[in-house]
Amino acid sequence: MQTKYVVVLGSLLSGIGKGIVTASIAKMLDAYGYNAMPLKFDGYLNYDCGTMNPFRHGEVFVLDDGSEVDMDFGTYERFIGKSLDKAFSLTGGKVFSEIIAKERKGDFLGTDVQIIPHVTDLVMEKIEKTSEERKLDVMIIEVGGTVGDIENSYFVEALRQLALKRKVVIVDVTYVPELQAVGEQKTKPTQIALRGLMQEGLRPDFIVCRATRRLDDKTRKKIALFSGLSPSAIIDDNDTNSIYSLPAILASQNLDKMLIDKLGLELKKTNDEKVAALKVDPSANISTKKVNIAVVGKYVNLHDSYASVKEALVHSAMAAGADLKINWIESELMEDSSFKNIDDILRGNSGILVPGGFGSRGTEGMIKAIRHARENKIPYLGLCLGMQLMTIEYARNVLGLDDANSAEFTDTKNPVIHIMEEQEKVTTKGATMRLGAWEAKIKPGTLAHSIYGKESISERHRHRYEVNNAYRDALVEKGMVISATTPDGNLVEIVEWKDSFGIGTQAHPEFKSRPESPAPLFLQFIKAAMEAQRMKALV
Ligand code: GLN
Repeated sequence: MQTKYVVVLGSLLSGIGKGIVTASIAKMLDAYGYNAMPLKFDGYLNYDCGTMNPFRHGEVFVLDDGSEVDMDFGTYERFIGKSLDKAFSLTGGKVFSEIIAKERKGDFLGTDVQIIPHVTDLVMEKIEKTSEERKLDVMIIEVGGTVGDIENSYFVEALRQLALKRKVVIVDVTYVPELQAVGEQKTKPTQIALRGLMQEGLRPDFIVCRATRRLDDKTRKKIALFSGLSPSAIIDDNDTNSIYSLPAILASQNLDKMLIDKLGLELKKTNDEKVAALKVDPSANISTKKVNIAVVGKYVNLHDSYASVKEALVHSAMAAGADLKINWIESELMEDSSFKNIDDILRGNSGILVPGGFGSRGTEGMIKAIRHARENKIPYLGLCLGMQLMTIEYARNVLGLDDANSAEFTDTKNPVIHIMEEQEKVTTKGATMRLGAWEAKIKPGTLAHSIYGKESISERHRHRYEVNNAYRDALVEKGMVISATTPDGNLVEIVEWKDSFGIGTQAHPEFKSRPESPAPLFLQFIKAAMEAQRMKALV
């Protein structure tokens, strides 16, 4: 059977949750037994996200194969519970570097190479190749940006041409604003956006309406009239407390069955359990057991920079029955010399987390927060940079090496974190770090071992620097536990404190956390923080 396609795009504005709609559709089709995977196109000319600033673009997500991709891939993997690879991420950079390489190879001898048909043909070829190689029943293609952008215009054109030869169903995600004073949902922006879509030769089969609340009957009918669709094809996507509610919201409006019908898919053996689960809103059973977590980082002003960290905390809170509050703390704040009492900033939090990051800005503040956690026995979780700083803090304040630091930040006599020899020679940027899934060996009897419950684990990585082996013995002698290394014992993977819950990993376990199976380190961290909060309440 040939793969069929669902195209998810927006013709009004971006940033309204197309990724979550795409992921929800993939999840719904998977429940009905179809092999359904998402593919995302991003129009920027970067080859991948590796060189982007998380402050501007949100988190750089890492796949098992080491690809550095858009944060939407995190949403996809969390919703569908399957691992994706680089073929599912298409960018303007990849398309154009391939077309130019082909031209240089002589693939187009004698012709002038043009956007149509050469680039559009290449786009179609890549889409079809990936979907056929994976034997997909359905590929859900998300178009980044907005229809009408110059950046994605050739991609949209390629989809129009694809629809001439393959089954393509189009889902347009729009926004329906409401003027508070009048209390009326306005459809005009959607009407105008629809015109733009039709100008490109595309006609939606479903319109998903992002709005603060469900659509009024009148609103739904008006959008149906202007789009020539039945009112049942105008779908509510109202604001909710949790993104994980969306599959249930869409399924309750029969989008699952309507899509199967529209795609003309043969009925498969459905997974009854998964179909039943679609109807359940996982965020409905929020507990009242409060837990406050401080995330101390340098990109905290844009929460999207830490999207997977946030989601991994949410998954663990749902599993542990906690009412989670994340306090995002700008680490630079703690560096201010006028700032005397770190307790003032961290008060009320029963867990402290330092996430990944690059560059020295804010690291001294993070080190202060880690010291505060260790000395006050507040549960601590360090991720990548957070693990490196945990090691530096220990070297400074327990080993007495005042100038201990990372070679990434400064030239120091005590680089307890340093660059690996093979990384030192690398001068190019992009995909040049220790990236993707790496196996680690855990030492029995350690906290890490009790958390993972096994000796061999695999987590995703994205970093250049490592714990300096020259300091390992001294750290261990003074009580720091090195609980996991690479299987050859050469690189430190996890470190721990002995006296209280404190654990740092060189990896990013947040990338593999799922609502149904939270990342083990996060889950135990949340449980330790809940216990700490309970004890505090007793005092
Ligand atoms: N900047 C550090 C390194 O490159 C940590 C990276 C990270 O936290 N992802 O090793």
